[in-house]
Amino acid sequence: MTEKMPPFPYKNALRQENVVPFIRKKTADGTFLYSLPEESDCDWIHAPLAADSDGCPENIHWSDRAAYADALKVSETDEKPFAERFRILLPSGETHWIFGTSTPVKKKNGEIVWTGFWFDVSSLHQQDYYNGIVLDSIPEGVVVFDKQGMILTATKRFCDIVHCSEDTIRSCSILSLLPESVADTMQQQLLLSSIKDRAIFTDILQKDDYPPIHVEIELVPEDAAFICVFRDITEFVRRERDLRYLAYHDTNTGIENQAYLKDIFPKVEENSKVGQTLIGVLSIEPKSLGQIRAIVNRSVRFKLISAIADRIRSALRDSDVLAQTGACHFTVLLTDIEFSIGIERKVDRILKAFDDPICVEDLEFDLSVCIGVCFYPQDGKILSQLIERADLALHKARETSVGMRLYNSEFLTAQVINHTIRKNLKTAIENHDIKAFFQPQIDIKTGQIVGMEALARWQTSDGLFIQPKDFISDAEEYGLIDHLTKEILDQACFWNQKWYSMGLCRAPVSVNISARQFHNETRLLHMIDEALDESGLPPYLLELELTESSAMCDPENAQKIITKLLDNNIRCSLDDFGTGYSSLAVLRSFPLKKLKIDRSFILNMKDKKNLEIVRATIAMSHALNLSVLAEGVETRENFNILKTLECDIIQGYLFSQPLCPEDTELLLMRWDAGQVAEENFD
Ligand code: C2E
Ligand code: MG
Ligand code: MG
Repeated sequence: MTEKMPPFPYKNALRQENVVPFIRKKTADGTFLYSLPEESDCDWIHAPLAADSDGCPENIHWSDRAAYADALKVSETDEKPFAERFRILLPSGETHWIFGTSTPVKKKNGEIVWTGFWFDVSSLHQQDYYNGIVLDSIPEGVVVFDKQGMILTATKRFCDIVHCSEDTIRSCSILSLLPESVADTMQQQLLLSSIKDRAIFTDILQKDDYPPIHVEIELVPEDAAFICVFRDITEFVRRERDLRYLAYHDTNTGIENQAYLKDIFPKVEENSKVGQTLIGVLSIEPKSLGQIRAIVNRSVRFKLISAIADRIRSALRDSDVLAQTGACHFTVLLTDIEFSIGIERKVDRILKAFDDPICVEDLEFDLSVCIGVCFYPQDGKILSQLIERADLALHKARETSVGMRLYNSEFLTAQVINHTIRKNLKTAIENHDIKAFFQPQIDIKTGQIVGMEALARWQTSDGLFIQPKDFISDAEEYGLIDHLTKEILDQACFWNQKWYSMGLCRAPVSVNISARQFHNETRLLHMIDEALDESGLPPYLLELELTESSAMCDPENAQKIITKLLDNNIRCSLDDFGTGYSSLAVLRSFPLKKLKIDRSFILNMKDKKNLEIVRATIAMSHALNLSVLAEGVETRENFNILKTLECDIIQGYLFSQPLCPEDTELLLMRWDAGQVAEENFD
């Protein structure tokens, strides 16, 4: 080396075998010279070191040569430090990775001198290289970013997932790469991460026109950064969706099935509990099932079943649930029902959806459906039980050739009643297992609740309610009727006093009195006194119902008792009118206030004779200055007839089934007579 080089810097660095200080000089005539310390004992670079015309060290890897020359030029022009980064080829054929830096100084004589050092990073670089291969081979995308969200490093897979090139990804904000919803979640997680160790969330990434992908994002906070692992779970989600579809749909018709209903029921039930509303459970079948079964062409049959489902669906709201629970059997959950009173209108809508014939492959089907209805929670709390009970009602609807039937617990009891009832009745009364349920009586003009009938229900240990027809006669036969009446009287007075004091109800509660109790007038009056005393209920808020037959069996006695009760401000009404043999003269002599037409006439007013009996009874009662109540009003059609006939009061499933006290309280709280009148009494 003939040229004089400046004194050598970085003396101490010479002690390290993989660091080499160097001086690069560009003479005024443009020649490059390198100077290396002679003491250096590196096996990868030696003095003297030749340079080419662009200033590149002679053994630089050919593919790094152009970039090196360009960077050197920029450093020279800008007089800025130069980040040395290149590979050199050893005579042995080995390649070494060199990193380093050099700083240029322009001399007055036109020379430029760089002082710097090179650092053999081959071993580190190799490790990085292998790490890179490992990271790039894993299917998850990995990204590391700082607490502000700035990306420090990312794997190639991550770049693919977010559709961003490797060059632009560094120093990008992680939040800018993600759609807003994901970024929001991520930002929340970042804030939370100071207290949480690890967070996992799933979301959908959709960028520009690329297909959306489902990702599971695992966020792991490290000391000064976050490691985020992105798993593409699109395929998994798709497969899960396919499996769900298969599990929850009928394979032939594609309609949601029983498994779906079972799965969704807890959610519907929860909503009903929170909103304190009822669920109407509907069992629906076409009237002419045989006609459908007879269709030989399976494709036509399945299309027809789908079309039937569509018609039902057209009458439902989005929150209602429809499922195919049999070959041609559907179950519907009607949600958000405040009162059972509204159900008829909704069911009507379904029935009307079949007014027009259904066309399938040029064939026309004129169909109508039968519907059985029951309610959660009053008719059952378990889905299978509810479906069973709605099915029972459907069966009754079929039997009686009507469009809809409401479930009545009488349908069930026949299956349950046995001789143990007799054995257990006494204990049940003593244990207070006989409960008073209440059914409202509604003024036909104003929609106001003007009375409430207390009806006995025997709750068995398995939660079933046995109906009075199955134990009242036993109670009478075994001398238990007084006990039973006392129990119901006490409960009725207690609850009505509570509702009265809460300002919920100013109407009387009526209690049924058995014929046998008329034989012991003193005991009956004493029992009533006691119940009123204990509860504090004003006497005018208690009413007694005696059946026509019990009153007519000993009219004189009946008249005496009714008069005595009225003297004490307690009114009596005549129950089940039409089932006994009344004499008009006797009837006139009773100081009664109300007459209740037996439900058997009301339920069957399609029969002209019944209709005429109802008409005559109403006219007669009005002539005797009695108000008339019609029991067993289940349908709007009957309601309208009764209104035309000028009946005064209505009692029946159309408004409400007999309810337990808690549900009755809720009903009283919500009852909006004005609204009920407006909606139903026009
Ligand atoms: P009832 O006094 O005539 O009571 C009316 C009956 O009609 C009740 O039956 C009621 O649930 C039912 N009902 C109400 N609306 C409708 C409707 O829209 N459709 C149909 N199909 N039925 C409706 P429940 O509760 O089964 O009582 C039956 C009978 O048992 C009562 O007839 C009453 O005579 C007697 N009973 C009930 N509780 C007692 C009680 O505590 N003591 C006595 N001695 N007898 C009672
Ligand atoms: Mg009654
Ligand atoms: Mg009755």
